[in-house]
Amino acid sequence: MTTSGTVCHPVDWQDAPLLDSETLADDLARHFHYTLGRDKVGESQHYLYQALALTIRDRLVARMRQTRNVTTSVPTRRVAYLSLEFLIGRSLNNAILNLDMAAEVSAALANYCAELEHIASAEHDAGLGNGGLGRLAACFLDSCATMALPVTGYGIRYEYGMFNQRIDNGQQIEQPDHWLREGHPWELPAPDKTVRVKFFGHVDIYRDHQGREHRQWLDTQDVLAVPYDVPVPGYGNDIVNTLRLFKSEATDEFDLGEFNAGGYAEAVAQKNLAEQISMVLYPNDSSENGKELRLRQQYFLCSAALQDRLNQWIAIKGAQFTDFADYHVFQLNDTHPSIAVAELMRLLIDEHCLSWDDAWQITTRTMAYTNHTLLPEALEKWSVALMQRLLPRLMQIIYEINARFLILVAKQWPGCAQKQRALSLIEEGANPQVRMAYLAIVGSYSVNGVAALHSRLLKEQLFADFYALWPQKFNNKTNGVTPRRWLSHCNPELAQLITAKIGDDWVKDFAHINRIRRYYDDDSFIAAWQKVKQANKARLCELVQQRCAVQFDSTMLFDVQVKRIHEYKRQLLNILHVIHLYRRICDGDTQGMVPRCVLIGGKAAPGYDMAKRIIKLICNVANTINDDPRAKAWLRVAFLPNYNVTAMETICPGADLSEQISTAGKEASGTGNMKFMMNGALTIGTLDGANVEMLEALGGEHFFTFGAKIEQIDDIRRHYSARAIIDNDPQLQKVIALLQSGHFNLCEPNIFAPIINLLYDDSDPWLTCYDFASYCQAQQAVSEAYQDPKHWTQMSILNTAASGQFSSDRTIAQYSEDIWQLQAMPTRQGE
Ligand SMILES: *Cc1c(COP(=O)(O)O)cnc(C)c1O
Repeated sequence: MTTSGTVCHPVDWQDAPLLDSETLADDLARHFHYTLGRDKVGESQHYLYQALALTIRDRLVARMRQTRNVTTSVPTRRVAYLSLEFLIGRSLNNAILNLDMAAEVSAALANYCAELEHIASAEHDAGLGNGGLGRLAACFLDSCATMALPVTGYGIRYEYGMFNQRIDNGQQIEQPDHWLREGHPWELPAPDKTVRVKFFGHVDIYRDHQGREHRQWLDTQDVLAVPYDVPVPGYGNDIVNTLRLFKSEATDEFDLGEFNAGGYAEAVAQKNLAEQISMVLYPNDSSENGKELRLRQQYFLCSAALQDRLNQWIAIKGAQFTDFADYHVFQLNDTHPSIAVAELMRLLIDEHCLSWDDAWQITTRTMAYTNHTLLPEALEKWSVALMQRLLPRLMQIIYEINARFLILVAKQWPGCAQKQRALSLIEEGANPQVRMAYLAIVGSYSVNGVAALHSRLLKEQLFADFYALWPQKFNNKTNGVTPRRWLSHCNPELAQLITAKIGDDWVKDFAHINRIRRYYDDDSFIAAWQKVKQANKARLCELVQQRCAVQFDSTMLFDVQVKRIHEYKRQLLNILHVIHLYRRICDGDTQGMVPRCVLIGGKAAPGYDMAKRIIKLICNVANTINDDPRAKAWLRVAFLPNYNVTAMETICPGADLSEQISTAGKEASGTGNMKFMMNGALTIGTLDGANVEMLEALGGEHFFTFGAKIEQIDDIRRHYSARAIIDNDPQLQKVIALLQSGHFNLCEPNIFAPIINLLYDDSDPWLTCYDFASYCQAQQAVSEAYQDPKHWTQMSILNTAASGQFSSDRTIAQYSEDIWQLQAMPTRQGE
């Protein structure tokens, strides 16, 4: 018995398109000839890429439906992962790997005389994120699907992702990334699931027939949030989860005033304002910029995601919310989506008539907050005036949350006005601000940091008072990265070598990677490992040649630092060491030195002048050194433009040495460090973020550590005299003298003066001069170690072997166990 339009029997696994090579080849031909209307092979690799992507997508979409049926047929506790960023990169190879159909795809492509590697390179990166935080969200989705956990990502479908970086005469040029121009085959629009998001307007009070007071948010300017679903395949389990990205669109209501005044075209043009919301990703990493449009994006995402969840709930359970909290978790990726706390309250109270207390119960049992940074410039605040204008009803709710919270504070610290001021969600002053991190903490049942050290500092410093109030909320979840993308896919030769020795269990159960430790002393294994590294270095050489026009030599040590350019990450310290090496070479002092190729890459936020100047310095130093015949045999330097996920897939397999050199206490975790470690690079690093745990897992003798430790930092700052340090360090003096002499900027006088001034500044927050000597010492130890190729390779093997705990599968298992309490969905393999 069926009602028209409904499917009353669950679709079974067998309905999914087949994975065999014959069906695959047929579908590829069909998409190529009919969906895309192409009939000549060789027309363009782009169309073949599109046809293949659509073919693979069919297989994903069928499984995505099946996975959804599992979670809607029986009540399932689920997580909505709310994030303003998902830094996905390419999807084709990932999907092929997770569906395990590489052989079938190659066979089908052979009909077109095409190779997968070539076709795959036609795909644009989905760069919907800045750096580590956005890439973490993408790794998490992969792990959740692989572990069959019911987790849906919610984000924004930015029309323009992270900008493309060009380097012109050492200057960063930002170019818009119109990644959707040629279409994005990995998404499926779901216009029937569109929801409305309100802005502006005012709030009225009215009484219902029982005399109860209610609030109404009226005369709003509404925007539509249209979902686009991106399939997220698990590895080898037929699970396909969903990443739901919202695009903003105008409603069909027109401004009647304009209309009546004859301003038809103007009224229609006004509609563009709605579409601005999802137009562009803000390119700031670890700093806020306070723009109104950014707040609109945040609220747009939160409101759309929460409404989507409530609609799905009501469709199954009806408009009752007694057990809603048993089935939902909203994980907030940093403070960016923290307005969700107030929005869930509004939806429950205003739209679904719950009492404040019931709504607050639900909110504080479903919200969970992940903090990503201790940097003060990254802690988001929004002016009360802006909130009042843009989101008047939300501002009322925040005031009410605050009033009730401050009563709690008064109980804990009676009569202490200072605590009231310090903990209030509203920072008082000429221009009062809402402290978004505080809103997130008060509204959540879990607050986590992203590495052990970082989580400890949250409890002891940044959020100490909140910790005193609610110690049980605080926990740690050390970050991880997915071994599918960051080993299997990006380093297939190493993956094969590992699998040949220990089987392929490690791909799903990465703790097993430690089994390769057994071959640590096996000469043929060591030789094979070296051979793979050599091939990966050759590939990296090609990339550097192509993109930087610098010739690297794969017999030299590859010393790599790629990440966002930020003062706290200290690319400056790296380049000072490069200058130090160069100076030594010029002086004929090459004692214990090893020939090196230094690669640095990363994007600077467009408004971050110092970061851009550091890029300029790196480029100028690189040019000078690469043009100096004295240096050729010893040192080569390149700045890699447009560092992104796809570039990293070639970079981390080819690195010998990974630079993780942030000022202690500044890098919350880092994840680049883990990708390098998995691929057998050795690390030179400070005791910061997850480096601390990497070193513990590895044993100190295989990790080059240096620099001020967190316990010393406060004391060092108190007595810091840059000049005293420089005066006592002849090596550093020579480096600075060379910089000051204009040797690297002969035709550009004084451009590096701000950098030199920073080095001399006693309030240099990054303590660059303090760590210089110990950094050089650690680098000297690196050079010496590299001169024993066998031992170096053994250390490389041990690095990969010890990287088991840095899989995002481990991280997600802990989120699920401690915060989410999810149960795995049944999979076909489990049946
Ligand atoms: C992993 C990754 C990052 C994060 O790197 P960190 O060194 O942890 O800052 C940033 N960008 C891209 C493209 C990445 O792949």
